[in-house]
Amino acid sequence: MDAANLLDFDRDGLTAWVQSLGEKPFRARQLLRWIHKRGVGEFSAMTDVARSLRETLATRAVIASAPILRDGASADGTRKWLFDVGGGEAVETVYIPEADRATLCISTQAGCAVGCRFCATGAQGFSRNLTTAEIIGQLWTAERMLRPAPESRVPGDGDRIISNVVLMGMGEPLQNYDAVLPALRLMLDDDAYGLSRRRVTLSTSGMVPMIDRLAQDCPVALAVSLHAPDDALRDELVPLNRKYPIAELLAACRRYLAHAPRDFITFEYILLAGVNDAEGQARALLRRVDGLPCKFNLIPFNPTAVSAFRRSEPERVRAFAEILQEGGIVTTVRRTRGDDIDAACGQLAGQVRDRTRLVARVGTPVLMEGTA
Ligand code: SAH
Ligand code: SF4
Repeated sequence: MDAANLLDFDRDGLTAWVQSLGEKPFRARQLLRWIHKRGVGEFSAMTDVARSLRETLATRAVIASAPILRDGASADGTRKWLFDVGGGEAVETVYIPEADRATLCISTQAGCAVGCRFCATGAQGFSRNLTTAEIIGQLWTAERMLRPAPESRVPGDGDRIISNVVLMGMGEPLQNYDAVLPALRLMLDDDAYGLSRRRVTLSTSGMVPMIDRLAQDCPVALAVSLHAPDDALRDELVPLNRKYPIAELLAACRRYLAHAPRDFITFEYILLAGVNDAEGQARALLRRVDGLPCKFNLIPFNPTAVSAFRRSEPERVRAFAEILQEGGIVTTVRRTRGDDIDAACGQLAGQVRDRTRLVARVGTPVLMEGTA
C-alpha cells in the first residue's frame, strides 16, 4: 500500500484515515495541530502521540510538500518560491508583506485551461490539477520558511506569519474544486491555520456553477476577474465568458453575497491600453453592476512575453478609477510588487514556459537569487 500524504487531508479526511488505522478520531486533531499549526514535518517530533502510533505513521504516511526549485527575494520584501510539481512542471507562490498584513498568493493548477489573452499562465496551456497536498503545501512550506527558528520563537504555537491567503497564482481554482475545497477548509480550521473567511480570497474568471457550490460548501471572500463591461470584449479576453456570459456571472455574484463573509464582491479589472480603459467603458461598467454591492480593484497590466497588450497610462488609470468612484464604487489600484523577480500577477509562468529546459536552467536544490 502506498503511504498516504497527510497534507492531502482536511480534518474529515484525516479523521477517516486515522480511523482506518483503528485509531480514535482525536488523533486527527493532534496530527492537524502538529502538521499545520506547528509546522512539524517529522512524526518523531510529535511528542504527545503514542510511540507505537508514531512508528505506524512512519511506515504508512508521509508529510510531503512539493520541493522548492527556487527561492527569490525582491528588494521590496516580496518573496517568490518556485515549486517542482514533477514532470518538468513548476508552480509559483508569492509572499507579499505589508504594514498591516502578510499575504500569500498561491497556485491551484499547473497551467490553466481558460486561456485569457493577457495571462502568461493561460498562454502556457493546461498541464494538470494540483493535489490538495500541493496546494496547502505552499502555505505549509512558506510558514515553515518564514517563521523564526524554533529557539527564537515565543513559546506556544500561535506564532503564524501569514495573515491572508489569495488564490490568485497560476490556475483557475474553480476548475480544480475537489482539491481546492479541502485546502480552503484547512486554511480556516482553528487546529490548522485558523484564518478567518474574510482573509482567504478565491479569485475566479467566472465558473458560474462552482461559485454556487462554493457558497454552499465553504464561502470565503470572492474576487471575480471581470476585465470588460460587455460580452463581445469579454468573450475575447476571457474565453470562459462564451460559456458563462456577464449577466449570468453577475447573477451568481448576487447569489453568493447571501453567503459571503464580506458584504461585497471584489471585481478585478486589468487595464489594457486602448482595449478596455476608455471612459465610456467605465460608465458601461457602472451600469452593469448597478445595485450589486462591489468594489473594484484595477490592476495595471504586467507585460508578458506572450501578448501584445500594453499597460494603460497613469492618467487613464486615474480617470477610469474616478468614474467608478464618482459612481459610488470603492475603487483601488493595485500596487505592483515583486517586478524585479517576475512575481507580479500574470507573469508567474514567465520563467517556466519552456518546460523542457526548466530543470536544466534552474538546477536542483534551493538556490537564492534576487536583489535583497
Ligand atoms: N484564474 C483566476 C485566478 C488566478 S489569475 C482568475 O483569473 O481570477 C489572478 C489575477 O491575475 C486575475 O485577476 C488575472 O486576471 C490577473 N492577471 C493575469 N494576467 C495578468 C497580467 N499579465 N497582468 C496583470 N494581472 C494579470
Ligand atoms: Fe487562467 Fe486566471 Fe490566467 Fe485566465 S487569468 S488564464 S483564468 S490563471
